[in-house]
Amino acid sequence: MRVFNFAPGPATLPLPVLEQVRDELTDWNGTGMSVMEVSHRSKAFIRVAGEAEELLRELLAIPANYKVLFLQGGATGQFAAVPLNLARADSTVDYLNTGAWSKKAIGEARRLVARVNVLADEASSSYTTVPEAGTVRFTPGAAYAHYTPNETIGGVEFGYIPESTEVPLVADVSSTILSRPLAVARFGLLYAGAQKNIGPAGLTVVIVREDLLGKARPGTPQVWDYQAQAQDGSMLNTPPVFALYVAGLVLRWLKSEGGLAAIGARNRAKAELLYRTIDTSGFYRNPVAVSCRSWMNVPFVLARPELDPSFLAEAKAAGLANLEGHRSVGGMRASLYNALPLAGVQALVDFMKDFQRRHG
Ligand code: PMP
Repeated sequence: MRVFNFAPGPATLPLPVLEQVRDELTDWNGTGMSVMEVSHRSKAFIRVAGEAEELLRELLAIPANYKVLFLQGGATGQFAAVPLNLARADSTVDYLNTGAWSKKAIGEARRLVARVNVLADEASSSYTTVPEAGTVRFTPGAAYAHYTPNETIGGVEFGYIPESTEVPLVADVSSTILSRPLAVARFGLLYAGAQKNIGPAGLTVVIVREDLLGKARPGTPQVWDYQAQAQDGSMLNTPPVFALYVAGLVLRWLKSEGGLAAIGARNRAKAELLYRTIDTSGFYRNPVAVSCRSWMNVPFVLARPELDPSFLAEAKAAGLANLEGHRSVGGMRASLYNALPLAGVQALVDFMKDFQRRHG
């Protein structure tokens, strides 16, 4: 019995992918072994990794002058890898602070770089906004400018890509990658933990423009050195083979669903349905400025917070799982990643209306 899983990550995966994984778990490709038991250097596995990269390139239309790296350590690892690779200890770097994940990235940068400029901080709106388009001016000579296009906890998403001509733009796209088309060429570097829209946890995707390679500061561990990883085809050490294999299947599924334009239209419809239900209810509330609302993570509160435990328990009983808000903010949060179908959002809004009728 599958539930609709609204978890923020690790998150729901497409059922056909899970079924294929199940079917070939003990005998993958006629090898008499699972994919977890074959060498990452075998021809068969190198094909798996190669196909995953090709599919990612095709889906995101990644230009030829970008490398795709499959790493480990999560997005948190990249909070450090970005400054280690792109800045020196005495560099200046720019950051935008739109919430909890921006803050973590900034914290790590401060340990590694002398001058961390926080050019915009949305504290005054309690992180329910992003800077207005056209208002951010990156520092000339900064090694890079970092922002978080989608804040997974706050449910705040940029509806635009900040303009940056000289300073390489770096984005933590953990919770928005593959949710709709993205102009990769506007960025110097993109990174994402896989466990939302790409596949299982344990895999980290980095997409980096070639001219930014080969600049890691002395002392950078090899596994965090983009150039070293690029040279070895992300196989400088053993990659997370199972996660990479599942990611490949998810990317195949995404392509078969019509790619990012199609999934983007679907994601927009899912988010609109939920926000409309919240906004017209007079009972549920989403605190985020309308133009900055995330398509992927929708936090909301009830008019009577004392009902939160009943809401969550009843939702769970109705097959709607993992709706609790992040432990730092409470309330509810529905994550609507690619693999969560419109039927799941429909079931959620039906439940919300019924709950309101009974308790409102
Ligand atoms: N950035 C964002 C936007 C996230 O949502 C998360 C995880 N939820 C992280 C970074 C941290 O990712 P990881 O656990 O892969 O290190």
